[in-house]
Amino acid sequence: MIYLDHSATTPLRPEVLTAMEPYFGSTDREDNSKYGNPSSIHLAGRAAHAGLSEARGTIADILGAAAREVILTGCGSESDNAALRGIALARRKQTSANRIVTTVVEHHAVLNTAEDMRDFFGFDLTLLPVNSDGFISEDALAEALGDGSDIALVSVMYANNEIGTVQPIGRLGALCRARNVPFHTDAVQAAGKLPLDVNALNVDALSASAHKFYGPKGVGFLYLRRGTPFHPFITGGSHEGRRRAGTENVPGIVGMATALALCEAERDVEMARLQLLRDTIIGHTLQAIPGSRLTGSPTQRLANHASFTIQDVEAEGILIALDLAGIGASSGSACTSARQQPSHVLEAVGIPAEELAGGLRLSLGYSNTAQQVELLLQKLPDIVGQQRQIVPAAL
Ligand code: PLP
Repeated sequence: MIYLDHSATTPLRPEVLTAMEPYFGSTDREDNSKYGNPSSIHLAGRAAHAGLSEARGTIADILGAAAREVILTGCGSESDNAALRGIALARRKQTSANRIVTTVVEHHAVLNTAEDMRDFFGFDLTLLPVNSDGFISEDALAEALGDGSDIALVSVMYANNEIGTVQPIGRLGALCRARNVPFHTDAVQAAGKLPLDVNALNVDALSASAHKFYGPKGVGFLYLRRGTPFHPFITGGSHEGRRRAGTENVPGIVGMATALALCEAERDVEMARLQLLRDTIIGHTLQAIPGSRLTGSPTQRLANHASFTIQDVEAEGILIALDLAGIGASSGSACTSARQQPSHVLEAVGIPAEELAGGLRLSLGYSNTAQQVELLLQKLPDIVGQQRQIVPAAL
């Protein structure tokens, strides 16, 4: 299979699995003594605790943060939830600021959480619009912030999962910092592909998820800058500095840190390689398929991410035909079929209603080669042609 859906999830790198194995404690291994509860005093607990601390330190170093500023979580969605709920509630208690500012193109982990904070916790919500490339306007953010006194939290995603656009997080963060407003970024798609230096980014909180960068599923982290108001939403034991209770997923966390360190070490070379493949996909698709349109920014986009809308087809048909041809791709969001909800991101960037059903996302990763891209580009125009013949009947 030619896997072109790395924005959905990535395979585990072999080095990551190797690093994780001792922490499962499987009895058929020699190095199986690290399965303890990291809170336990005995040898197995101490070994697990050492692995946990080392992993936290690795992640902190990559962020340019202190180890205590890294909260380990169960996934990217949890990290987003913890940031929005935890910071907004605590800041409101401190200052009575009652407005959450975010954007119309966020992942649902942020968007639905912000709406929940409005509907069930009484926050006011400002959703900033985007232009046709998917960027918010810095002026619009500055205007929404005012003097900042009413703003509980701003959350703007680093890179968009559907259209790949990369926001100028450092500049947006500076606007928030100048007004002492906490600034969170959902970096789930950015981690492993873009710089994560939290000081250069001017962020107070940053969310990431291991399964997007060749780590295991079901583990993520939230960077939380020292001094940022925070109210935990998973309460219980004193884990994670009382900010997220629950026995830590030690193998997953060790795997996440190993995966992130590998991506960081290879980032410049690998992103340059993927960008060439991406640009080949974009150039050929736009040229060979009439009625295809690039979505997201042509320049400020993830190096591994090519996304389109294709007129007169339904994404589902294309994806099934690609799958039959041995190619795994995505429409860019869970449901873009004409019969279901159209993508809120494609709507937000102004894609005409009649094109909303034809979203296609091809997201590259480290196993993809130039030969695979060539094969894709040979097959795609024919698949689109065939779908165009059958779709009118289906609609
Ligand atoms: N945020 C973005 C931008 C994402 O793309 C995703 C996953 O697709 C998430 C959050 C949620 O991450 P997770 O699947 O780890 O909950």
